[in-house]
Amino acid sequence: MPMPANTLRIAVLPGDGIGTEVTEATLAVLEPLAKRHGIGLAFDSLRAGAFCYRDTGTAMSEETFAAAAAADAILLGAMGWPAIRAADGTEIAPQLDLRFRLNLYAGVRPFRAIPGVPSALADPRARDIDLVIVRESTEGLFFSRDRGVVTPDMAEETLRMTRPVTEKLARFSFDLARRRAAARGRPGVVTLVDKANVFRAFAWMRGIFAEVAADFPDIDSRSHYVDAMALDLVRRPWAFDVLPTENMFGDILSDLGAGLVGGMGFAPSADIGDTHAVFQPAHGTAPDIAGQGLANPTATLLSAAMMLEWLGARGAGQGFTDAAAELEAAVDAAFAGGLRTPDIGGQDGTAAVARAVAARIGVTN
Ligand code: ATP
Repeated sequence: MPMPANTLRIAVLPGDGIGTEVTEATLAVLEPLAKRHGIGLAFDSLRAGAFCYRDTGTAMSEETFAAAAAADAILLGAMGWPAIRAADGTEIAPQLDLRFRLNLYAGVRPFRAIPGVPSALADPRARDIDLVIVRESTEGLFFSRDRGVVTPDMAEETLRMTRPVTEKLARFSFDLARRRAAARGRPGVVTLVDKANVFRAFAWMRGIFAEVAADFPDIDSRSHYVDAMALDLVRRPWAFDVLPTENMFGDILSDLGAGLVGGMGFAPSADIGDTHAVFQPAHGTAPDIAGQGLANPTATLLSAAMMLEWLGARGAGQGFTDAAAELEAAVDAAFAGGLRTPDIGGQDGTAAVARAVAARIGVTN
């Protein structure tokens, strides 16, 4: 069948372990979704990751990088494998190289309670959890990746933040809060998560956020220390909206956030820059369950919805925006209708989730 005129090219990097399984399930849902909304998605499957490194000596070839960079968006499964490591002992993580090389500074991690998915919290207000961590993803403590100094007597890693990226992170966060406020019909709140009471770098970061906040008088601007935020994300996560933060803090708080809404299988993400974006579940390759058809593909499905929304917002057309909304609604409807994955004590494996969500396409709205 010929592709519609509005066809976009999606680079697909399934990666390793359950990355390949959740990607396959997601593509199986995207096909009927694209057909229904008259949008063209041309998938270009590319090999990269730990097993690629083992077999070829390169985790992501330059050709693969170039093909991914030339696509309209990148959809990624997960990469890495504990038994396959670089000479310095670190895991193979070409997905981090994509973030750095494509300047994907905004790591967008939404945490939303899905109807029917049990929360780790007993408080009934856990049903209202709907927050986004915006993890700066190109600098912070991760600036030090591959640069750390280790001698027999000391080890040192350096945290670096720059003004251009910090300003962009702030602007991105306030813009996001504004869009969310408009969609939800309530005021937007940006809460910077930092450690400004101890480190000069974070006090400086607060200053930059305050400068940018002046351009967004409609958005409430606050700040919170990271240790207090760890407590409050457990005590009252429903009270938060948009939480920008440094790379390492965002890495850690993201897993906490996932724990609140059902686990890693429910945590989507988008790594967004000025020109490129990578969409992937927040989880890793889960070697403990890989190859068994048990992986929950919900995080990847929701990441794909974020991709469609991003493409729509960049002018790809209303069909993309509509498809994004329908995919999210179909996921919600499937779980509200009784779908239960093994990570939340159910029996529905990877393929069953894809079938259940695909079955809701065209009937949810
Ligand atoms: P990384 O360091 O790359 O994040 P990791 O091994 O620390 O990897 P994950 O791969 O995310 O972390 O796995 C952590 C735990 O969560 C594992 O027990 C895994 O089985 C579980 N898990 C992760 N993703 C899923 C998923 N999609 N469905 C079900 N369980 C998952």
